Amino acid sequence: MFNASLKQLSIQLAEKKISSTELTTEFLQRIKQFNPEYNAFITVNEEISLAQAKVADKMLATGQAGPLTGIPIAQKDIFCARGWLTTCGSKMLSNFVSPYDAGVIERFNQAGAINIGKTNMDEFAMGSSNETSYFGIVKNPWDIAAVPGGSSGGAACAVAARLAPAATGTDTGGSIRQPAALCGISGIKPTYGLVSRYGMIAFASSLDQGGPMAKSAEDLALLLNVMIGFDPRDSTSLQRDAEDCAQDLQKPLAGLRIGLPKEYFAEGMSQDVASAIEKALVEYRRLGAQTIEVSLPNAPLSIPVYYVLAPAEASSNLSRFDGVRYGYRAPAYSDLADMYRKTRTQGFGAEVKRRILIGTYVLSHGYYDAYYIKAQKLRRLIAQDFTEAYKRCDIIMGPTTPTVAFNLGEKSGDPIQMYLSDIYTSAANLTGMPAMSIPIGFGDKNRPIGLHIMGNYFKEAQMLNIAHQYQLVTDWHLKSPV
Ligand code: GLN
Repeated sequence: MFNASLKQLSIQLAEKKISSTELTTEFLQRIKQFNPEYNAFITVNEEISLAQAKVADKMLATGQAGPLTGIPIAQKDIFCARGWLTTCGSKMLSNFVSPYDAGVIERFNQAGAINIGKTNMDEFAMGSSNETSYFGIVKNPWDIAAVPGGSSGGAACAVAARLAPAATGTDTGGSIRQPAALCGISGIKPTYGLVSRYGMIAFASSLDQGGPMAKSAEDLALLLNVMIGFDPRDSTSLQRDAEDCAQDLQKPLAGLRIGLPKEYFAEGMSQDVASAIEKALVEYRRLGAQTIEVSLPNAPLSIPVYYVLAPAEASSNLSRFDGVRYGYRAPAYSDLADMYRKTRTQGFGAEVKRRILIGTYVLSHGYYDAYYIKAQKLRRLIAQDFTEAYKRCDIIMGPTTPTVAFNLGEKSGDPIQMYLSDIYTSAANLTGMPAMSIPIGFGDKNRPIGLHIMGNYFKEAQMLNIAHQYQLVTDWHLKSPV
């Protein structure tokens, strides 16, 4: 049962072959058994999950069920969920029980899905390896010596190790796609503004976007259909007519033009990743697609631009964590200023402090023009490169990450090396365009490799179609480490 697709689970539930209570109990059991080793979940709350399952079983019995009713979903611990400890991977929120639901959580609740637990993540979503979490590292279920990727490392691990049928993640510079690639699962960051950021703890608001992580593109489509929707409580939420993300899944790919950016097929990509990408492209040509070279001249600047803009926004967003209203407060202090200082000194980890310092610096008088404004201009140029490229091709493909998962501890002492993990992914956040990763094989030490599929604004249904057609003729997405 734990290997089943969302569609299969939905059918089993509808045909009463299994109840949501049974299904939920089975996944809670797996979490109990395997989480001590993987540490994919920060919080599990059997009582709430089973109470939701009971409600779902009623919906199923009375014919009110939708495609996700009764199905357990792991929620990244960045999404506020009423009654749940919501930590964002930080000591700062280690005692925060959310009094309200995020927009995304609300939508899953309305759909009758079960919250099976809150997944581990890099502190405030800052990281590429899940090693910055206050709640400890997460292991890659394919090889416990390897990182699962980050920041949605717990979510990727949970889906890969079959501790949940699917999960949510958030992606500010690659945090859905990079861990999906390193754990051999599928994940999509939708167009900026499609998924509500209400109640999704802010890291860099102009880049943050929630999205689903699952075994297959078909599963992602079902999840996106629940997640996407206008939310007046998020001022950047887009008001658009609902579109069925699964509507194009079956379309043939004949005539599809795949753009291969020459900048992404240059030095930096390891041999094992390069050959897996080449094999995936052979498959796509067999499916009727053609590949053409395109150029994104400014894309190689994505990492420096990202590491000016993301910390700038983070330094502003994280100023709310001051120990006054909620979250951690230093136990002993002399006056108010000392309380702020001690709370933030003790409550934030080293990587978060580094980002706040960089962000404050690039926004400070005299440096604002030199760094922040310049980065904003480059951001626009990067977006223009993509817009130009999409005049010549329908979709862009390349590697999601330059290498397979690295070892735990391998890069944690070297921030720049860590930041380079997102060299291919961060452009999609800067442009706001959708991008996804699907598993396409294994490389060094038998660790998974992901194909990065990038599309123009609102091309989610087309991208899922392109991923699904590949998954119909290959079985990488069905492989599991357990
Ligand atoms: N790895 C990047 C960072 O550390 C991106 C993180 C993310 O997408 N949340 O900022």
